[in-house]
Amino acid sequence: MFNRRKFLKASALSASLFAVDKKGFADAIPKKNNKTTAAPIVISTWDFGIAANAAAWKVLSAGGKSLDAVEQGVWVPEADPNNQSVGLGGLPDRDGHVTLDACIMDEQGNCGSVTALQHILHPISVARKVMEKTPHVMLTADGALQFALEQGFEKINLLTAQSEKDWKEWLKTAKYAPVVNVENKLYKKVAPQKLPGNKYNHDTIGMLAIDANGNMSGACTTSGMAYKLYGRVGDSPIIGAGLYVDNEIGGATSTGVGEEVIRNVGSFLVVELMRQGHSPEEACREAVMRIIRRKPETAKNIQVGFLAMNKKGEYGAFAIQQGFSFAVCDAQKQDLLIKGKSHY
Ligand code: ASP
Repeated sequence: MFNRRKFLKASALSASLFAVDKKGFADAIPKKNNKTTAAPIVISTWDFGIAANAAAWKVLSAGGKSLDAVEQGVWVPEADPNNQSVGLGGLPDRDGHVTLDACIMDEQGNCGSVTALQHILHPISVARKVMEKTPHVMLTADGALQFALEQGFEKINLLTAQSEKDWKEWLKTAKYAPVVNVENKLYKKVAPQKLPGNKYNHDTIGMLAIDANGNMSGACTTSGMAYKLYGRVGDSPIIGAGLYVDNEIGGATSTGVGEEVIRNVGSFLVVELMRQGHSPEEACREAVMRIIRRKPETAKNIQVGFLAMNKKGEYGAFAIQQGFSFAVCDAQKQDLLIKGKSHY
């Protein structure tokens, strides 16, 4: 039987959670004090997220802003020559150019991005300058480089001897075939290297942080898919695909085969699902399932992972394949590495 009391309770609850504007669009309104009990907190993708989080934590634990924390956090993998999927030492495109993609987003919805940027150690900082010093959101390739040089960034060679060697090895077959991540030490069995030069051929650092004031920012930076076509841009610098932050709700970031993330506007989707009340892990799972449902055969052989955090500082992740890890750092745990759940 219809229970009127329950119904009244339910409608009172939804009235408190949602406001409906004149056109009938509902929007979650966690308006007033939105602070999380978990803050400050920082999370980021893959094993290399641990070292990146440590750098971000220095900023956060000193009372710094989440925007500074995510920028300085991702500097670590960007500057690491042994990390072959981000920044310096990233594997090049098929013609030997190291081209970098990065974006950053703050708690006010400001964002900046660079795509296919060469010769600059910290693309994330160029993305931040785009956000802060120009009326634009994205700069690309030569234009992004010109802007970076004008802003005082140094021009360097990003192709390390090791990455050049791997690229030359790859040229022997020149077969473009992204392999599911093999970097994670926790998963020795996952996807053995099948082709010459094809080890670690993609991965991205995506980072989300909430500072002591309860404000969230995010950063995402990568050298993209190894041996891609010259000029290829992935999901990582695309606001809404590789990264999205809505300070009222939470943030999300992605890693894996970027084309599938772009097709599904993945990170925006995850945040919108959290807005509808899903937990971060559920939201990531649903975004992964969209990719799988659209292209089940493709999805069997690729990796895509999402990582999300809501305003309460609750976090979660989900990936197509096993092997996706993420790192968490807050006042209780400084170097936690979590194995993300996966569909397969
Ligand atoms: N998402 C990145 C890209 O498509 C690569 C990765 O994270 O694995 O460029």
